[in-house]
Amino acid sequence: MSPDLDRLIKLQQLDATIDEARRRVVEHPQRLAEADARLSEAKERVDVLRARLKESNDARRALEKEAAVFQARVAKFKDQLLEVKTNREYQALQHEIATAQSELNAVEEKELERMLEADQVAVEIKQAEAALHARQKEIDTEKTALARELTTMQRVLDEATTGRAALLTATEPELVALYEQVARARKGIALCTATRDGACSVCHVRLRPVVFQQVRQNDAIIQCESCRRILYYEPPAPAEAAPTPVS
Ligand SMILES: [Zn+2]
Repeated sequence: MSPDLDRLIKLQQLDATIDEARRRVVEHPQRLAEADARLSEAKERVDVLRARLKESNDARRALEKEAAVFQARVAKFKDQLLEVKTNREYQALQHEIATAQSELNAVEEKELERMLEADQVAVEIKQAEAALHARQKEIDTEKTALARELTTMQRVLDEATTGRAALLTATEPELVALYEQVARARKGIALCTATRDGACSVCHVRLRPVVFQQVRQNDAIIQCESCRRILYYEPPAPAEAAPTPVS
């Protein structure tokens, strides 16, 4: 392969590496924020449940106060019962007692419902706390991996940038200019292979046989007549070229 073509292929590989590393570095804060958001979600679930438990307990305490009022009322009527003079008064008080008692029962029923509810929410809090704990560990691991990746990507970026600069000084300025011109026009892809049946692998336009013949030699800078990308040829791997017979 001509050294020029070889350098341009390497240049394109370095540019792809640089682009990818830059993209990763730029994405890093966003990926951290996404990890934090997933952690907040789990925290929020615990907070919501704790608030629900508090609400349930507050409601139960309010019912207890209400129950105490009815209990006192029942006790008071029962005391009065000992002092009544007439049958009529007695019946009236019995009626009051029955009413207060049935109100007390209703309140105690609600209290019981709140207790069962609190038990259920307490179970859900335990589950949510376990999930939060697991999520916390997961996010810690993820952040460690992200930090490691960032360091790697910064190193890759530095090395590729240095490599690119070295490659540029070793390459004919006109070739670099051609490479950059095509790369700009073609979304960074200035070089591509010719397919084995003689087409440009990116724009798929068929090459003239004489052009394809030249491309196969890999010893000159030849551009696709349609997309202007610089073409090179990758010969088939030996195994593919001569398949081993199945015994
Ligand atoms: Zn093409």
